[in-house]
Amino acid sequence: MASPEQRARTARSLAVLDERLTHCRACPRLVAWREETARVKRRAYADWDYWGRPVPGFGPPDAALAIIGLAPAAHGANRTGRMFTGDRSGDVLYAALHAEGLASQPTSTHRGDGLELYGVRITAPVHCAPPANRPTPQERDTCRAWLTGELRLLRPTLRAAVVLGAFGWQAALPALAEAGWEIPRPRPVFGHGAHTVLPAAEGPDLHLFGCYHVSQQNTFTGRLTPAMLRAVLRDAARAAGLR
Ligand code: SF4
Repeated sequence: MASPEQRARTARSLAVLDERLTHCRACPRLVAWREETARVKRRAYADWDYWGRPVPGFGPPDAALAIIGLAPAAHGANRTGRMFTGDRSGDVLYAALHAEGLASQPTSTHRGDGLELYGVRITAPVHCAPPANRPTPQERDTCRAWLTGELRLLRPTLRAAVVLGAFGWQAALPALAEAGWEIPRPRPVFGHGAHTVLPAAEGPDLHLFGCYHVSQQNTFTGRLTPAMLRAVLRDAARAAGLR
């Protein structure tokens, strides 16, 4: 099978890219883990038919704002097949998006639950669930082709991106550069509330925002509160022209 780079680069639409992505088997460790997790399941989800494949981005193909996380959760997106769907991180994220008028409902439980995003596309630098939520640098670099391809296809309408966490930030910068935006030197440093503007060689600039990840580790400890998350989303939505 062709490499992720070839498959992503030649996709002429997000629908095609998403479909191709779901068949990717480029990372043997992650393929084994996502499929094993889908087979063994968690007892609470024993009656679920787990997705167990790469999870594509979610949201309209003409989004103005991208939200870039880390990777699918083993019993969240790897179970439901939709980004941040079916876990506590998603509960926090979608509640904030709905409160800011960027989602049609505050909950995201399964594909087909009616949820729509307004001008927002949610994606990740790694599309398969990794053991302990930790992809290797090689897996991150291999999967970057899909993110680059997605950002390239979103480029005509994309005006802002929120990156959740330092891992996503490190992974997203090269993808953004490959998709056509310039990364200033020195490279922008991740932090909650960080905001920088990436100039484009052609076309509009991109507003890049940093936000702590919506992981339980951050939300349960109060490191990231709903108000903090909403403030970043509000600023990003404004920069993207969504309000
Ligand atoms: Fe393919 Fe990305 Fe999954 Fe690796 S992590 S198998 S590159 S979709």
